[in-house]
Amino acid sequence: MKMPCYLVQDLLPLYHDGVCGEQTAADVREHLDGCENCRAALGGMDADTGAETQLQAEKAQASAAALHKVRSDLRRKRVLPALLVGLAAVVVLAAAVLGFRKYAMGVQLTIPTEDIAAVTLEEDNSLRVTMQDGKCWTGLTASYRTLRTGGEEKEIVLFTLYVDLWSSLFQDGWSDGEEAMLFNDLLDGTEAVCYVRWDEWEQVNAATKTEGEGAAARDIIDGDAVPGLLHTMWQR
Ligand SMILES: [Zn+2]
Repeated sequence: MKMPCYLVQDLLPLYHDGVCGEQTAADVREHLDGCENCRAALGGMDADTGAETQLQAEKAQASAAALHKVRSDLRRKRVLPALLVGLAAVVVLAAAVLGFRKYAMGVQLTIPTEDIAAVTLEEDNSLRVTMQDGKCWTGLTASYRTLRTGGEEKEIVLFTLYVDLWSSLFQDGWSDGEEAMLFNDLLDGTEAVCYVRWDEWEQVNAATKTEGEGAAARDIIDGDAVPGLLHTMWQR
């Protein structure tokens, strides 16, 4: 069948894309064999397609580059804040540790009597306290007192210990018996050494009155007012 050029050229897009029927394709091919005009039109379509492919490739490349840029921008925008957040976290943590340390060093904990292993009078007449293994203290107060109980008097040494919270957590107080000296030269008249818990120290002091004046002054504890608060750790 002889087809006119206008009909072939209408069919060319379908023929070019290979979607027309078999017979139609054969007829178009037959026409193209004998028609330079229509062949040129088909050639133009190939060229268009080539140009389009090229354009699409360039577009794809451009959007890939744009995507890459967006990604690296995003990465840069993410990394910097992450670094700043990390730095801030370190600063906050350090401040918290320092703050807690300052607070914990000011918290004075009571040391139970059982934490004291022994109070001993050494040959050089020094009085020393030894802690149980793993127990330590950071503060010590000791003084000579007269204990008056039921009208009887006894010369004693009264002492208390405490450990600050920080040292109790990290075991860095005095725990070596050699360093824990109560007195370097105990008075000969001292008959006993009594321990008072840190949280009961004020109560014992409140039961203490000074009698006499000057060199004759004595700090007398009313033993009947503080039953059970004085723990005898050593006596002659
Ligand atoms: Zn033609």
